[in-house]
Amino acid sequence: MGTTIFEKSDKKIKSRAQKACNLDVLEKSIDKKYLRTSEINLPVMSEREVVSHYTNLSKKNFPLDGGFYPLGSCTMKYNPKVNEWAANLDGFLNIHPNQSDETIQGALALMCTLQKQLCAITGMDAISLQPEAGAHGELTGMMIIKAYFEKLGMEKKKVLIPDSAHGTNPASSKMCGFEVIQVKSTPDGLVDLDELENLLDNDVAALMLTNPNTLGLFEKNITRIANMIHNAGGLLYYDGANFNAIMGISNPAIMGFDVVHLNLHKTFATPHGCGGPGAGPIGVVKKLEEFLPVPVVKFDGKKYFRDYNYPNTIGKVSSFFGNFSVLVRAYTYITMMGKDLKQASIDAVLNANYIKAKLQDCYKIAIDEVCAHEFVLTNELQKAFGVNTLQIAKRLIDYGFHPPTIYFPLIVHEAMMIEPTESESKETLDEFIEIMKKIAQEAQDTPELLADAPHNTPVRKVDETNAARHPNLRWS
Ligand SMILES: *Cc1c(COP(=O)(O)O)cnc(C)c1O
Repeated sequence: MGTTIFEKSDKKIKSRAQKACNLDVLEKSIDKKYLRTSEINLPVMSEREVVSHYTNLSKKNFPLDGGFYPLGSCTMKYNPKVNEWAANLDGFLNIHPNQSDETIQGALALMCTLQKQLCAITGMDAISLQPEAGAHGELTGMMIIKAYFEKLGMEKKKVLIPDSAHGTNPASSKMCGFEVIQVKSTPDGLVDLDELENLLDNDVAALMLTNPNTLGLFEKNITRIANMIHNAGGLLYYDGANFNAIMGISNPAIMGFDVVHLNLHKTFATPHGCGGPGAGPIGVVKKLEEFLPVPVVKFDGKKYFRDYNYPNTIGKVSSFFGNFSVLVRAYTYITMMGKDLKQASIDAVLNANYIKAKLQDCYKIAIDEVCAHEFVLTNELQKAFGVNTLQIAKRLIDYGFHPPTIYFPLIVHEAMMIEPTESESKETLDEFIEIMKKIAQEAQDTPELLADAPHNTPVRKVDETNAARHPNLRWS
């Protein structure tokens, strides 16, 4: 089982492979000083062996298409295969961003249309497709907010962020040079308005909010919050990672936000994980449009073109167009869904509430309100038997389910954050519910079974800290 591709590599084939590539001829045409002096250590094997090696490796993990993936805050929804077809079309895959506008009209048309679609979905006035992740969108948005106040001759230093926020929010603000001030949540998981009132002053550039928030709860006071921050002279930033709960139902413009990022890889269906690939477009209200990164893709009535004519732009945040193939997938998904995007959100919210209702007797729900597209459980009922959240998550793997997000949001002790998305059938949700109930029973009867789970995986429980700090890539 534990053989690496290097160990499998067959030296005998090497000479044949080199001959096939005409490496000798190539070597002669390159100046000697550019040639490597030591032999490169690449594995060599037949194409069939390479394919089996990686296919077999992929089966040892939990494949994206292999089953239910209830990772909270990540929106691991079904990624239609038609997205892959579109992203792999020759005219999208084999073009170069340095080609002239005339030769890439199709790609520019797609981006221009996607900008319009995202404006319609978010209610914003203008969009930049350049940021390549949600966090990158946050940084871009904060740079725009900074540029806006600088142009007004104001130097505002503070950004307010609720304690329930994703860690990227304070990181992006800090990277942009702002001082981060934490806003406490109330016991029912929403922004504490009194605390907010106390923190608001002339020095606050922005409040960053996720709505619904990371507890899966909709900020009911959002219009009041928007008025408060605007009256204090600040702007309101929308972390759109949870957009899957509100597509076509509400939007950040109605709520009073000024800057928005979307995670196309979450809400708009690109398979993602382990850091990519992503796209985090940002939308802004009219008064912030002049600061957008360049180029912005436009249509002059005859042809599509890249517009660099933004004298107050914050500059470029990405080498070319951002993550173009993710943009193609989002365009394909949005165009295919049309008005059904709203139904997708309705179903996502229904699915989350269904699981929550069915599990409420076996697990403590962090904040027991009607939730949006996700909700948070804790180990409160299991801890008496010495069972923690990590053990519950690992035991799920034994039953063929990918665990939910755990230990986030940070304000909930031993959190399990479950997001089923709209993609799952009632049968799948019921299977998951049954297994979660079974694990709750095991916690009571046989906690030792959970203590050293998972039992059925190629690699058992790993020392995660050690694995992250000293990765050992050799499988032995
Ligand atoms: C995923 C996520 C982010 C960051 O997005 P990336 O695309 O992973 O950079 C920010 N906020 C929330 C709430 C998220 O779930």
